[in-house]
Amino acid sequence: MKVLVVDDSDVLRKITVFNLKKIGFDVEEAIDGIDGLEKMKTWQPDVVILDIMMPRMDGFAVLKEMRRDENIKNIPVIVLTAKGGQDDEQIALSLGAKKVLTKPFSPTQLIEEVRSLANE
Ligand SMILES: [Mg+2]
Repeated sequence: MKVLVVDDSDVLRKITVFNLKKIGFDVEEAIDGIDGLEKMKTWQPDVVILDIMMPRMDGFAVLKEMRRDENIKNIPVIVLTAKGGQDDEQIALSLGAKKVLTKPFSPTQLIEEVRSLANE
């Protein structure tokens, strides 16, 4: 299973990638929205983990772009938001995100969400 992790925070991205690789997922990473969209198109992941607050192109813009592109519009997305972002959650879901996790989340929680989306 291919999982793309899109997050501008080096530390968070590395931790997430490490945890997903440890249980056997095939993982790629992207450092912002533009990089993320590019890798979705070329690599075609099964699941995308998407941060909201990123430079160049944020997670909301990525979700909007995905909806316009037939090749990537159906890839399930788990969105990561900062604490206190209730509005962020509603917006992300309305833009097509399957699930929203609030930072900080446990690795176990994230892995369960990835697994459940992959089995849908
Ligand atoms: Mg960020």
